[in-house]
Amino acid sequence: MARATKPNCRYCRRFNEKLFLKGRRCSSSKCPLEKRHGRSRRTRLSKISQYGLQLREKNKIKIFYGVKENQFRRYFEIAKKKRGVTGTTLLELLECRLDNIVYKLNWAESRRMARQLVVAGAIQVNRRRLNRPGYVARPGDEIRVKPESRQRTMVAQVQESRKEFPVPAWLEPDSADLVAKVVRRPTREEISVPCDEQLVVNLYSR
Ligand code: SF4
Repeated sequence: MARATKPNCRYCRRFNEKLFLKGRRCSSSKCPLEKRHGRSRRTRLSKISQYGLQLREKNKIKIFYGVKENQFRRYFEIAKKKRGVTGTTLLELLECRLDNIVYKLNWAESRRMARQLVVAGAIQVNRRRLNRPGYVARPGDEIRVKPESRQRTMVAQVQESRKEFPVPAWLEPDSADLVAKVVRRPTREEISVPCDEQLVVNLYSR
């Protein structure tokens, strides 16, 4: 399955989970999944094979973060080599992607828009322009909106409009300056992707 290039509610319908692909609409009553609330699940998980469940979980995580198969596999290989629980490390790496951080800082309405900001060169890491959305930030990294960026006003407006979404504790933002520090890696509890990552580990261990 290639990367979900268009924000599309059908992915959420397929998984019967809110994957937050469309920005503001996702947190409103306009979200189709809110309207479906209470209806029976179309996907009968009990009828899916173990392999099918593993594939389903992998695809869900890929769509949530907007990554392609080969990128996802690379993150998995890195996670496997690190100490700790492979599934949790995999999610930590994905959560620390630069585009995800820009989204979590409320500088963009969605991960897709965050990716566009990064690709457009509006984001600096440690005061150097970095246009790679897949860069995995490390504790101590300083992320900022480039001072001379044309998108600065727009980012400030988005940040203002998303005040009700708290920035996670592993990021330390200075909202006035549109700058933030990565203070530590996120814990599993701070990662919101609705998944069972162990199924992915089992899939790649077959
Ligand atoms: Fe659509 Fe809701 Fe999914 Fe957002 S969370 S992409 S509005 S179904």
